[in-house]
Amino acid sequence: MRGPADLTVVGAGFAGLCLAARAVEGGWPAAQVKVIARGLGSFALHPGTIDVAWDPEQLRAVLQGEAASSIWGEDHPYRQLRAGELEQMFTRFAGVMAKAGLPYERCEQPGNFLLPTTLGTAHPAWAAPRSLVAGDLGRPEPVLLVGFDQLPAVKVDWIAAALQRWSEQRRHSGQPAPAAVSAVVLATAPMLAAAGLPLGDLDGAYPQASLSAWGRLWERKAVWQWVSERLPRQPIWRELGENSRILFPLLGWEQTEPARLYLGKALGRPVGELLGGLPSPAGVRLGQALLRLLAQAGVDCDWGRRVEQVSWVPVAREGRWRLHGVVEETGERFDWQTEGLAWAAGWNNPLPLQRGSGAGNLGLAGDPTPGRDAPESGGERWLVQAGESSWRSWRPEWAGSRSGSLLVSVEWAWRRLAASAGFGRGEGVQAGSAAHSLAGAGSPGEGSGDEPGMMTHLEEGAS
Ligand SMILES: Cc1cc2nc3c(=O)[nH]c(=O)nc-3n(C[C@H](O)[C@H](O)[C@H](O)COP(=O)(O)OP(=O)(O)OC[C@H]3O[C@@H](n4cnc5c(N)ncnc54)[C@H](O)[C@@H]3O)c2cc1C
Repeated sequence: MRGPADLTVVGAGFAGLCLAARAVEGGWPAAQVKVIARGLGSFALHPGTIDVAWDPEQLRAVLQGEAASSIWGEDHPYRQLRAGELEQMFTRFAGVMAKAGLPYERCEQPGNFLLPTTLGTAHPAWAAPRSLVAGDLGRPEPVLLVGFDQLPAVKVDWIAAALQRWSEQRRHSGQPAPAAVSAVVLATAPMLAAAGLPLGDLDGAYPQASLSAWGRLWERKAVWQWVSERLPRQPIWRELGENSRILFPLLGWEQTEPARLYLGKALGRPVGELLGGLPSPAGVRLGQALLRLLAQAGVDCDWGRRVEQVSWVPVAREGRWRLHGVVEETGERFDWQTEGLAWAAGWNNPLPLQRGSGAGNLGLAGDPTPGRDAPESGGERWLVQAGESSWRSWRPEWAGSRSGSLLVSVEWAWRRLAASAGFGRGEGVQAGSAAHSLAGAGSPGEGSGDEPGMMTHLEEGAS
């Protein structure tokens, strides 16, 4: 039996961090997994949601494994999907995120959630963090937006007016939408006083707090307590139906779920938050949750390194991938060797494979054919690509599919790694043996890549 190999993931965006977490979840020992990245990926621009297709007909085609007949180009990851497969991939992703304390839900109805944004628009998303789902504008229950006088970044009266018009138009065309969207603005100073914070404590920027400082402020139970006492005293509260939903600008960074649950119980209504802002709070929170999870599991994240060249090094019968690069801060050159390499360096950062190097077992996102251009050294090691660096093309009409496409590419990359490293075939690391490495409980072996259907599919792809 082969011992566990080392796996290096280049890139710390959605694709790289999800792939590292997926590998550990699937049984790869965390101590053998390393992430190398110049810096954190584009989470500040990521909506934090899983957007599969904004158009309902395209979404249906993807979910039913019929994407080949729709707009998706030949190299798009969706073309590889079978009916129901995206749901399975999402279930695994949601399992990992639940362990990170950031539970996700997918839209059970045919179609997307329509999530209210701080721009006063509806963002379609097939899956989203639970804190965002409460505001789904595809539901009829009224919505109250709660703003604060010292948080000008989120102007709830303006947002509510825009969403109210949007809802009226939707209802007019016979589609479900909230019966009413209203807003209330609370004073910030008494909230700070109740939380025992002196004025000026909000990032030094008081009286105009940034969303980032606001998120930190909202980690405090004293703040939730104050809001849950003060809000029902507002005149608008008496006009609200018992079935209304209450949305806040941001329910903290790390304490999102405790805040949501506390306020939901105290106010007796579903509570959530708005999507949006730059940097994107939901995207940043997703990145931070993944990083925390990986750190807890013992995965080493090495920052500030730019990989400039990748080559294949046959060493005796054991091949290695050699990464050459530069430490950005010091300009120092580095040379790193690894058996398994996952390239997830984002858009416009293609794999810098040295000419003449065999791309052994290269698995592009939309290309499940293993062994193409395998090196002649005989040592077959694992090179996969995931995320935006793995698409060969991108078309504007695919907007609204990017995070869903990333999820598929991560699963494909993981399947390629799992199959190559012998997961689920009695070789290499026993599937599920390190499933406990991720924080929290999980059923050992769950999502370990050893499902018969998955392997059959891989082998079909290989033939
Ligand atoms: C303006 C904007 C709006 C968007 N809106 C949406 C939306 O509404 N819905 C949606 O689904 N998606 C949206 N996206 C897309 C989403 O943000 C990206 O698809 C996603 O973040 C890309 O993830 P990734 O992991 O592939 O790459 P990235 O997040 O870009 O990560 C790349 C990583 O690789 C590292 N890296 C790069 N080169 C090297 C190197 N040579 N050596 C070492 N490390 C390297 C980087 O430092 C980084 O850590 C939007 C994107 C933008 C720009």
